[in-house]
Amino acid sequence: MVILFVIGVVNLTPKKMSEPNLKVLNGEVCPYCGGVPTFVDSDSVYTRSYGMLWVCEPCEAWVGVHNGTDKPLGRLADKDLREAKIEAHKYFDCLWRKAMRTRGWRKSKARNTAYDWLANQIGKPREYTHIGMFDEAECFRVVAACKEFYEPNL
Ligand SMILES: [Zn+2]
Repeated sequence: MVILFVIGVVNLTPKKMSEPNLKVLNGEVCPYCGGVPTFVDSDSVYTRSYGMLWVCEPCEAWVGVHNGTDKPLGRLADKDLREAKIEAHKYFDCLWRKAMRTRGWRKSKARNTAYDWLANQIGKPREYTHIGMFDEAECFRVVAACKEFYEPNL
């Protein structure tokens, strides 16, 4: 048991990665043009209001915020990346929902454990392993890694 735990920790040790652009990952800078996003109601880009967004209008890129805050959920996403993120969530969310159902875990534990697993699968440091921070290629890697867990209507 102890040995298994140690192996798990070793596997989760972050690999070296190039210096991440934290301002891009945190939604403070548009990844497409380098501009500064503006904080607007989502009805400026959707037909109705779903809450607030950080938007770069010239790039038609945006990101939502954590409920009740102005804190971006991740990097700004253009249309292609928004679609890729939806695909990634479709498969990844099955993984932690299944853990909630079969292991009786709370949502937070199931999601955190699933993200630990995902970080290991795609070789990124855990702190940068959030679908909201991923680019399109990384979203497709999520789909590939999680495909076997997919269940419709889970
Ligand atoms: Zn932009």
